[in-house]
Amino acid sequence: MTLRRRDFLRMAGGALALGGLPACAPDPGRDAFRASRRVLPEFSVWTWVHGGGGVTGAEWRRRFARIREAGVHAVLVSGGDPAILSRAAHAEGLQFHRWFWTLNRNGDRWAQEHHPEWFTVSRELRSSLEHPPYVGYYRWVCPTREPVRRYLAGLVSEIAATPGVDGVHLDYVRHSDVILPRGLWERYGLVQDTELPQFDFCYCDVCRETFARLDGRDPLEIPDPPSDEAWRRFRWDSVTGAVREMAAAVHARGVPITAAVFPTPTIARRLVRQAWDEWPLDRFFPMLYHRFYLEDIAWIGAGVREGVAALGGRPLHAGLYLPDLPPDDLALAVETARAAGASGVALFEMGGLTDAHLAALREVLAA
Ligand SMILES: [Zn+2]
Repeated sequence: MTLRRRDFLRMAGGALALGGLPACAPDPGRDAFRASRRVLPEFSVWTWVHGGGGVTGAEWRRRFARIREAGVHAVLVSGGDPAILSRAAHAEGLQFHRWFWTLNRNGDRWAQEHHPEWFTVSRELRSSLEHPPYVGYYRWVCPTREPVRRYLAGLVSEIAATPGVDGVHLDYVRHSDVILPRGLWERYGLVQDTELPQFDFCYCDVCRETFARLDGRDPLEIPDPPSDEAWRRFRWDSVTGAVREMAAAVHARGVPITAAVFPTPTIARRLVRQAWDEWPLDRFFPMLYHRFYLEDIAWIGAGVREGVAALGGRPLHAGLYLPDLPPDDLALAVETARAAGASGVALFEMGGLTDAHLAALREVLAA
C-alpha cells in the first residue's frame, strides 16, 4: 500500500505536481479559505488556470490580483506547485481549487505501464491506450473497474488533503465522446449522426461480465447498441459509481468537490455517457461552449435553465469559452447565465482574459 501510494504520487507529479505531502504545521491558507468560503457571493465568478510554466509566486500574485480586481472569486488550477499557487491565490482573496483530469489518464505513465488493462475498449475491441480515438491524448480508464475507482479515490483524497487546497475540481469525468459536438465534425472529417463502433466505449472484459451478470446479455451481441436503454444506462451508472467513490473520499477530508461537465444533462448523456445531474457533488460547471454546438448566446441561458432544474437547488456555474466571446458577448453571456438562474460563471481560461474582457466583466457584475 505504501509503495502504491508513493507510486501514484510520483505519477501525479507529472500531470498535477501535487508537491509535498500534507505537513503537520497548521496551514494559514486553509484558515483564509474557511473565512473566504463563508463570503462567496450568491453569484460568483471562477476561472480555469493552467498553473505550470515555472512562474514565480510574485507573478502569480500579480495575475490573480488583476482578475480579483475585475470580480473573479475563485480559481480552478491545474499543474504547478500548489503551495506557491494557493498562497498567491489566498493572498489575493481567491479560493484555490485543484483542477484534476479524472478518467482521461493520458498523463498517467504509472497506470499506463502497470495497468494497461484499466483502459477502455471500443466496440471494435481496441484499447484507448494503444488506439486513442480522435486525438493522441484520448486515453481513458474504465470507471466500471473497482481498482480504478479505488485508485482515483486515493488520488483525489490526497489532493483534498494538500495544504491550501480549498476544493477538488474534476474534469474528463466521462467516456470518450461517442458523438462529438456538432461544431467539431468538420475538424475531424466525420459525420456522426449515429454511434460509430470505433468511438463507442467500454467493451472491456469487466464491463462485459458486469453487464452480463445484471442483464444476461453480452453487450457485444446487442444488435443495435445505441438504442439499447439498459446498455446506455449501464455506462451512465458506471461513471456515476466512480464519481460517488471520489466524492465520498473528498468529503471525508471536509473539502468540497465539483466538476466540469458537458453542457446539459441531455447532451452529456448522449455524447459522453455523463448523467451528471445524478452525481453527489457540491457545484457543477457545465461547459456551455455555444460555438462548439453551432449555437448562439441565448442557448447558454436555455442550458443553464435545464441544468438548474435538474439539479434541484445545487449550484451551477455556466462554463464560458473566451475565444468565442469578445468582450461585449462575454458581458451578454454573463447576464444571460445570471438571468437564467446560474450561481455564477466559470471562464475558460485565465490566459484568454484581455483587459477589455475584464472591463466588460467588472461592468456587468456591477449592474
Ligand atoms: Zn470497461
